[in-house]
Amino acid sequence: MTKYIFVTGGVTSSLGKGIISASLAKLLQSRGYRVTIQKFDPYINIDPGTLNPYEHGECYVTNDGAETDLDLGHYERFLNVPTSQANNITTGRIYQNVINQEREGKYLGKTVQVIPHITDEIKRNMRILGESGEFDIVITELGGTVGDIESLPYIEAVRQFKWEVGSSNAIVIHLTLIPFLAAAGELKTKPTQHSVKMLLEYGIQPDILVCRTEHSINQEIRKKIALFCNVNINSVIESIDASTIYDVPLLMLKENLDKTVLTKLKLPLNGEPDLDTWKDFLGRLKNPTKDVRIGLVGKYVELPDAYKSITESFIHAGAANECKVQVEYIHSENINVDNVKEKLGHLHGVLVAPGFGSRGIEGKLDAIKFVRENNIPFFGICLGMQCAVIEFARNVLKMKGAHSSEMDDKSKYPVIDMMEEQKKVTNKGGTMRLGAYACEIQKGTKAYSIYGKTRIKERHRHRYEFNNKYLKQYNDAGMITSGINPNTGLVEIIELKNHPFFVGGQFHPELKSTVDNPHPLFVKFVEAAAEHKYGKRK
Ligand code: GLN
Repeated sequence: MTKYIFVTGGVTSSLGKGIISASLAKLLQSRGYRVTIQKFDPYINIDPGTLNPYEHGECYVTNDGAETDLDLGHYERFLNVPTSQANNITTGRIYQNVINQEREGKYLGKTVQVIPHITDEIKRNMRILGESGEFDIVITELGGTVGDIESLPYIEAVRQFKWEVGSSNAIVIHLTLIPFLAAAGELKTKPTQHSVKMLLEYGIQPDILVCRTEHSINQEIRKKIALFCNVNINSVIESIDASTIYDVPLLMLKENLDKTVLTKLKLPLNGEPDLDTWKDFLGRLKNPTKDVRIGLVGKYVELPDAYKSITESFIHAGAANECKVQVEYIHSENINVDNVKEKLGHLHGVLVAPGFGSRGIEGKLDAIKFVRENNIPFFGICLGMQCAVIEFARNVLKMKGAHSSEMDDKSKYPVIDMMEEQKKVTNKGGTMRLGAYACEIQKGTKAYSIYGKTRIKERHRHRYEFNNKYLKQYNDAGMITSGINPNTGLVEIIELKNHPFFVGGQFHPELKSTVDNPHPLFVKFVEAAAEHKYGKRK
């Protein structure tokens, strides 16, 4: 039978439930278990696809086209196992399912209520991945904080679930904060006690407490927490601030979180965990032999979470190159022809980020013109690739006013245009070109030298595309379309012939970079940035 682990949070938000869940999953995976992680978000949007990045950070996209919470990105980066639609469920989705069934007449004659109908639907979703037979252990992270009104049905569902399957088949890990009061010079356990009391009020005794703290918690504090929260002393796990999220699995290993979990679930330890690749990655991450500075030009730079997967991909690619990548976030609205040299001149590479809408576009175009003309490595992702196409049209192909029809639907040269099938779409949620699509790479191109193969699959999230009406003009003038969707003929990769590294992808490679598999586009871009700085090394 599949075993279930629920991860709840108390005291405050932002304690890093996603990283703890991913770290525990990594440890269990390294002991030979097949593990997946799912996230339940208590908001009413059907998915985060319609949320502004300022609200919720990046929207992560799975192979099967789900628009999801950014924590799923951490799950994939840690586990190197793809997630799917089933790994992220919101209250909106739960209610939508129940309401659809009500309309279909499934509950004829009955009053449809939070308990049992909503909680039953939550429990059904908690079981889906377990019942697939693909996983030995399913970790379910509950978004929000215990005590939030909107989290209540989830907590009740966990209580029922645990009661139904028994305590050795489902456990609850509660993540809390042990604040340090500088004036008193003390770590305080009371918020944790209160948070556990609240869980107890809802009928849940947590099995394990993971305590976030800035200072090490000694034996005495552990004993106090254990006594007042009614858990074993070895179930009080310290989670001290780490210099990188990738240290957390090893910190949890030191605290025996994996052993405690497996013992409670009555599962064998299977010897020692195999973390060689992980440790090797950390070794390279922490001992770089060189460094580069890369500009990330975007318009959501005030909130780095908006570019989470890109930042993490640079960490993976940096480690692969034994190169420290310093990412400088640059607001595209602050770039113009007069200051572009001052803003970008010192950089070893520039990435132009994905995005929506016209704000900040002109700055992106100025940035691209500068790096194109100055042979600075360039990498454009989705909107960043589209901007490279627009810039080339305006400044090389001399198509005055060329644009994407997203920004200017009257442009004489709509070099980026909406796909035919998108024109009929009026709904905004879940209607973009989403998920993994195949791409055929032309041999002899930069893209081919990066991927080393002709057939790849990458994930998409956009409505607009390269306008194939202009294909020949681009190819003739040196911007080649090196990756094409074999089924639709849509352009997926563009690159410049006479430039050390100028590559744009219509897809989002950052969504597929993991610790075990750093994405080749990022790896080669960082390599090109290092070559720009140090010259070609043998
Ligand atoms: N706004 C562009 C489009 O919809 C690009 C989207 C993106 O960068 N993800 O096509």
